Amino acid sequence: MNTEKSQRLYKKALEFMPGGVNSPVRAFKSVGMTPIFIDHADGDIIYDADGNKFIDYVCSWGPNILGHNNKAVTDAVKKSCDKGLTFGACHEGEIRLAEKIKSHIPSMEMLRLVNSGTEAVMSAVRAARGFTGRDKIIKFEGCYHGHSDGLLVKGGSGLLTGSVPDSAGVPVGFTENTLVAGYNDTDSVAALFDKYPDGIACVIVEPCAANMGVVPPEKGFLQFLRDITSEHGALLIFDEVITGFRLGIGGAQAFYGVMPDMNTLGKIVGGGMPLAAYGGKREIMELVAPVGSVYQAGTLSGNPVAVAAGLAVLEILENSPEIYDELEKKSAMIEAAMKTAGLNVNRAGSLLTAFFTNETVRDCKSARTSDTSRYAEFFKYLFSRNIYIAPSQFEAMFVSAAHCYADIEYTCNVIRSWRG
Ligand SMILES: *Cc1c(COP(=O)(O)O)cnc(C)c1O
Repeated sequence: MNTEKSQRLYKKALEFMPGGVNSPVRAFKSVGMTPIFIDHADGDIIYDADGNKFIDYVCSWGPNILGHNNKAVTDAVKKSCDKGLTFGACHEGEIRLAEKIKSHIPSMEMLRLVNSGTEAVMSAVRAARGFTGRDKIIKFEGCYHGHSDGLLVKGGSGLLTGSVPDSAGVPVGFTENTLVAGYNDTDSVAALFDKYPDGIACVIVEPCAANMGVVPPEKGFLQFLRDITSEHGALLIFDEVITGFRLGIGGAQAFYGVMPDMNTLGKIVGGGMPLAAYGGKREIMELVAPVGSVYQAGTLSGNPVAVAAGLAVLEILENSPEIYDELEKKSAMIEAAMKTAGLNVNRAGSLLTAFFTNETVRDCKSARTSDTSRYAEFFKYLFSRNIYIAPSQFEAMFVSAAHCYADIEYTCNVIRSWRG
């Protein structure tokens, strides 16, 4: 495969951006390669600068549930562009999007639109602290909630890949109120509540973890979190930046039947544009400025072009519920192929990860037993056959509505023939 042009671009990019990238996991470091540069994408295919094409299972790390370059979505964006790119003022689309989100995710009685998942989670935690008047929060080892200071503790995604447990540049004081529990480990949560019975503002969790690879919640885990937070007057926050509109139109809370007090969305909700949201019970959200004393703002928040993209995607998802059945079918085919190849695979809906360990992967510790050098071999094997999965073990593989059965079959055949 000729990747000359990508390599040339990478060299150039290194002059201007740390590692040549604008987000660490794009650097291909953990698979021992250099990044390909994308020229364009359509449906389930990405085309690189050298003209190579790949069946794409990264899907921009989650947003592209409809695949790339969906015409209804890009048309909506173009139409919105013609009316101006940003007003910094109210517009009707914001209401329509908020109403749509709430109709599918009823835990978001009121919500705010922001620009990234990082911002959504940061703001939700602030509101939870404001509401409860408490400082401490509980997060789970291996869950990723964006790169705000207080949440960069035992994170997932690029933090696991780079083996950087915590980031430099974050003062101890900024994380001393961040308590860490084990995913699927109810005892570790109970112990923290025993220690600080009246001190915990919220528990924040990926209701299906997808940033240490995919690690679904075990039966009863989310309900346990629901019960123990209610008991102690703490809030339960689901970080549904990946799972929202992914595990079904109602997100993880409908999929698993547990309702949080607050919820965050990102990725799919922006339809490929920078847009995210946080929300929750009315009495919590009414504490946010200008009604209440929890400050949060944004120059580009509710950007009309991003809102148009989000609305277009949600309209398609709600008018085509069969999309989720199809995603389930296609993802189950890939899961089955992985099992045939002897891989240890975790899956929830259209999120899946192959691990290279004999342990059952149920938390960060077991995820870390995966042999990442074998993952790198697996990545290269697929890549050389024009299949693109995340260039890192601790990520999800995303299946989209644009993946056609022929490409799924091809992918399954390649996976089945893998001899790792
Ligand atoms: C991607 C992600 C974030 C961060 O979103 P950004 O838009 O990258 O800031 C937060 N939480 C989860 C669960 C995510 O997967």
